[in-house]
Parts: sequence; structure tokens; C-alpha cells
Amino acid sequence: MQNISNYDFAGKKAIVRVDFNVPLNENFEITDDTRIRAALPTLKKVLEKGGSLIIMSHLGRPKGVQEKYSLKHIIAHVEKKLGTKIQFADDCMKAKAQADALKPGEVLLLENLRFYAEEEGKPRGLAEDATEEEKKAAKKAVKESQKEFVKTLASYADCYINDAFGTAHRAHASTALIAEYFPNDKMFGYVMEGEIKAISKVLETPERPLTAIIGGSKVSSKIGIIEHVLDLVDNLIIGGGMVYTFKKAMGGKIGRSLCEDDQIEVALNVMKAAEEKGVKLYLSKAVVAADDFSNDANTVICPSDNIPDGYEGVDAAPEAVAEFKEVIMNSKTILWNGPVGVFEMPNFAKGTNAIAGFLKEATDNGAFTLVGGGDSVAAVTQMGYADKVSYVSTGGGAMLEYLEGKVLPGIAAIQE
Ligand code: AMP
Repeated sequence: MQNISNYDFAGKKAIVRVDFNVPLNENFEITDDTRIRAALPTLKKVLEKGGSLIIMSHLGRPKGVQEKYSLKHIIAHVEKKLGTKIQFADDCMKAKAQADALKPGEVLLLENLRFYAEEEGKPRGLAEDATEEEKKAAKKAVKESQKEFVKTLASYADCYINDAFGTAHRAHASTALIAEYFPNDKMFGYVMEGEIKAISKVLETPERPLTAIIGGSKVSSKIGIIEHVLDLVDNLIIGGGMVYTFKKAMGGKIGRSLCEDDQIEVALNVMKAAEEKGVKLYLSKAVVAADDFSNDANTVICPSDNIPDGYEGVDAAPEAVAEFKEVIMNSKTILWNGPVGVFEMPNFAKGTNAIAGFLKEATDNGAFTLVGGGDSVAAVTQMGYADKVSYVSTGGGAMLEYLEGKVLPGIAAIQE
């Protein structure tokens, strides 16, 4: 594996997998270009060092060639940001001549990789009543043609850079399989490098105390992360809708709050494991409970294990928030994933917004703070703190799988 910072790109063609899966409005205007801006350091590095670029990405979830998912819609914007003209290959499988003709400093953007089923390696167009046998045969066929797809992409370039963290958890042609064609010339781009560095600072070499704040609605969707971090952290704060399954498991009265009865055993095991491992577990001790799941509902503040009938817990109450604050401010490394309340409703966003503020304060005081996962990222961004914490992850699903301790194919393919 090579390092982008000292790789010699002079006269070389670099094929770079980026995440240009940006939101577009009905006029095909980009409504949020964060992902494009994130890729710029990597792209500029190659050009500055005398290389040429073949940029590849997916956009949306097309089922074959669909004009609305064409990457041509973003060319002008990328040109502006990159400060140079871009050539476009309107079929990613027919770009060899354009790639061969690239001179140092030139840029070629390939059309949406997912116009081909081979990118994901999943069969398309199967009849709904297809038999298991037919499904198997279709899968085999696409896996077979995927080899040619990967080989063709690889034939365009001298080196491969993966900078698409958002798809690193997928073993797709452009995110993982292509790497084998560049055994001595593959590397991470700066987005990938940043994500890997940030997460290893938390999970592998944290300054202690290390605290994880895991919020969100369901135990079942967060249990993978909870179990993984239990082996690593000093403190575990669990907030949001998950709290009530834990409280019910302990015999509490939770009113109409969200509860997964089939996760009660799991919750009991988490509590037992925390005790055995010496992890201090904090569950919102007081909550704001509402008589309706709406922003204007009537609310009461009550202990999370004594919620009145007809009410449901919707946010962490001040007493719980104060406890979280103390834990956070005494930590040197903090990981945050998931809101501690129904933060989409402004009246129930106070706990989550307060956490965003504590993370900012902790960062100011020298702690390392990593925010990962769609909703917590939205919360810090909404509060204007996205650049006031140490690191905000760009990859939702990829980050979740990373936090669960899984090996991400896009990372493994480069490191192997
Ligand atoms: P997740 O996608 O698992 O991170 O969960 C995020 C969602 O959890 C957000 O949409 C929140 O509104 C929701 N959530 C947080 N706290 C609660 C709660 N007490 N009751 C219901 N939903 C909640």
C-alpha cells in the first residue's frame, strides 16, 4: 500500500473512486456539495504532482441507464471547485481512448458506475416470481461479467486511489475489487485517511477516559456498536429511545415509550457485561415525556423508570443532561453516535443540542471528539459546531459498521 502524500504521480494516470453521490434538486442543481468539497484535497494532490485523473463515482440508485442519475449534471460544479476543465466519458466501460489520451493535469470523469449492475455485482431485472435457481444463475452471471468490468476500469490507469469512505463497507467493483490490479500502486485518499485516523484514535489508541455516547431509537440497530465499544470504553452513555427498553428490563414503568420487548434480554446482558468489564453505564435518569408524538404535545419531566401512563419519553431532561455533561467534560476521548431524543422536533432537541455543545466545549479543552452517524452529524451541523469538534465522519453506514468492529472491504482491499 502506498501513501498519497509521497507517491510520485508525475506522468501517471490515477483512477480515483470518490463519493460524488450528492443530492440534486429537480433542476439538477446540487443542494449540498460537502462530498465534492471533501474529495478536493485528494484530486488536487494528483494534479499538483503532475498526474492525470480518472474520477469515478456512483450517483443515486439507478436501475440501468437513467438520465436523472447521470454524473454529467455535476460536471460544471466540479470544474469550478477543482479549477480546471473536465472531460466526460458517457459510458464508463468505453473510456479507454479518452483515458489513454489524458495528459498530466487533465481530468476525465466517468459516467455513473451504477448504470452497470456489475458495479455492485447484484443482478437486475429478475422477474418477481424468479425461482431460487434462476436467482442463483443470475447472480453467478453478474459476478462473472463483473470481472471484465473491473478489468476494464483498471486498464485506464497506473494507480488506484480509494477516497469514498461512504461506500467502504461495500465490496463493489470500484471500491474494493479493482484494488487487486494495483498491488504496488494503491492507496487511500485524504478522506479515507482522515476517517481511519480519527476512528483509530478512538478505538485503538484513545487517551483516557474514553466515553461513548450512543443514542438513537432502537437497541436492535445499535447493539452491534454497543457490544463492540463495551470492550473499549470507560464510560458508556446510552440515550434516546433505547433507554426505555433498558428501564423496562430493570422493572421500570415506561408508559407508552418506545420499547423493544424482544431486546429486554439483550439489554440485561449489556448491563451485566458493563458491570463485569468495569464500564460505567449512564442511561438518561430523567426524561421529558410527552402525551403525544408531536412537537406541541403536553410534557412532564419524570424519572425514566417512572413515566406516567399515556406518556412517552422523548428527550433527556436537565438532570440527565447535567450528568452527561460531567462525564463528557471529564473525558479525554469522546465518540458520539445517535441523538438522545426526538431531535427532529425542536421541543425535544434540547438534550441532543446540549450534547453537541458539550462536545464543542470538551474539544476546546483538548479532548478528541468524533461524531459519526447521520443524526448526530446533523445535530452538530445544525448547531454550527461541525468544525468545532475534532472530527465529523462523512460515512453513515460505513461508520456504523466500522464502529461495530467489522472489517470494511474498501479498507481491507487497500491494506492487503
Ligand atoms: P438512529 O437512526 O437509530 O440513530 O435513531 C435516530 C432516531 O431516533 C431519530 O429519528 C430520533 O427521532 C429517534 N429517537 C431518539 N429518541 C427517541 C425517543 N425517545 N423516542 C422515539 N424516537 C427517538
